[in-house]
Amino acid sequence: MSANLQRGLGYGQEVGTNNTTPPFSGRQSETNRPTSHRRPALHSARAALIDWYTQPFDYEWMAKHRSIRGLHQPLQYLFGSATTLYAVASVLMLFSSRGPHGFGAQAWISIVLLMQVAVALRWFFGPLPVKRDFIAYAIFGDAGTASVLMLYSPFGALVGCCLFALTGGLCIFFVSQKWMLAHLALCCGFITAMTVRNLLTGDEDAPTVLATSLVILAATAVVPLLAHIAWTAIGRDARRSLLDPLTNLLNRRGLEDAAEALWHNGHERNFSLAVLVIDIDRFKVVNDYYGHDSGDAVIVRVADRLSLLFQENGVVARTGGEEFVTVFAAPDAEVHQRIEEVVNTLYNSSDHIPITVSVGACILASPSSLWVDGPSAIDKAGRIADSMMYRAKLDGGNRSSTTKL
Ligand code: GH3
Ligand code: MG
Ligand code: MG
Repeated sequence: MSANLQRGLGYGQEVGTNNTTPPFSGRQSETNRPTSHRRPALHSARAALIDWYTQPFDYEWMAKHRSIRGLHQPLQYLFGSATTLYAVASVLMLFSSRGPHGFGAQAWISIVLLMQVAVALRWFFGPLPVKRDFIAYAIFGDAGTASVLMLYSPFGALVGCCLFALTGGLCIFFVSQKWMLAHLALCCGFITAMTVRNLLTGDEDAPTVLATSLVILAATAVVPLLAHIAWTAIGRDARRSLLDPLTNLLNRRGLEDAAEALWHNGHERNFSLAVLVIDIDRFKVVNDYYGHDSGDAVIVRVADRLSLLFQENGVVARTGGEEFVTVFAAPDAEVHQRIEEVVNTLYNSSDHIPITVSVGACILASPSSLWVDGPSAIDKAGRIADSMMYRAKLDGGNRSSTTKL
């Protein structure tokens, strides 16, 4: 047992506070276990809506997620085609008996038509859209649709409200709950106004108007709302699946994605990249002596300190019980010093339960022949760092062992 750990395991020592109940453990205490399996439908719907509205909408994560990342180009073509479809419908309506009449109305529709062509070209040939592009497209789609439909005959305008489904489709995936609600308010308000207009003019019989209106409301408002609720929940669960519930650090899967981004960033800036495997020394003794909860508290403390240490240009993951992996990019001259900082920062003699760690490090120097392997070089470096960690452990722990490629 190292001297540091022996000091930490002194008799009568107070154990650190335990604030480590896993947030997503799914365990339920006797007191908060639900008493009934069936909640009233309205109550459940209200709870689901509040849950949906209060979720953070992580646009960055959405756009970078694997499921979407490979689809950026097809999605651009999809939205370009949708805008073209929209423009074709506007052209056809110029010649329809239910379309716009009079110079002013036709001139406005022609202006919107030109804007639609410009927007379609931007989708087909422009750069990858960012958050503000999606919001601008939703606003343009809704405002443009409403301003054009007002110039059609009452029933033509009501049927044309189907076009709101296009912006609704975009809103499902790419805008937050707030923008989705703004879209739904405009869409439902406009459809209601067009329904009243039809009922007042009496061109079509009331049942036809109401049936058309209800079907369009379901397609343009209810379906996108339910899809947004489902997508938000799936996104939240997918994000959680990349996190370790005890420490909120990334888990091994989450690390893969984050390290890949770091590799690209480090490569562009000519930084060196270091992969560190960090294992707490004789952790079993902490558990045996202080109990599992205190062991958890020690793991959380180590996680917090590592996160602080590598909050810039680095990622930290908990990859096993008391084992962590860190990948960071830094100028070559700083890398060794940062590795030493890990050993020094994690040991503090005034901690309730002081611990030491063994650190194995593998540095992908810039330039290094391994950089040509792409992000998979991080996997190789990780395996080497793991064996370096065992070397540090064999040498007595509380130290780092580093190799450079
Ligand atoms: P070494 O110095 O060789 O690394 O020894 P060690 O005791 O740290 O390592 P060993 O692999 O023998 O024991 C690791 C212990 O970590 C065993 C396991 O019960 C404990 N452990 C694993 N996951 C958790 C956890 O989530 N919480 C707590 N409290 N303990 C854990
Ligand atoms: Mg250990
Ligand atoms: Mg271990």
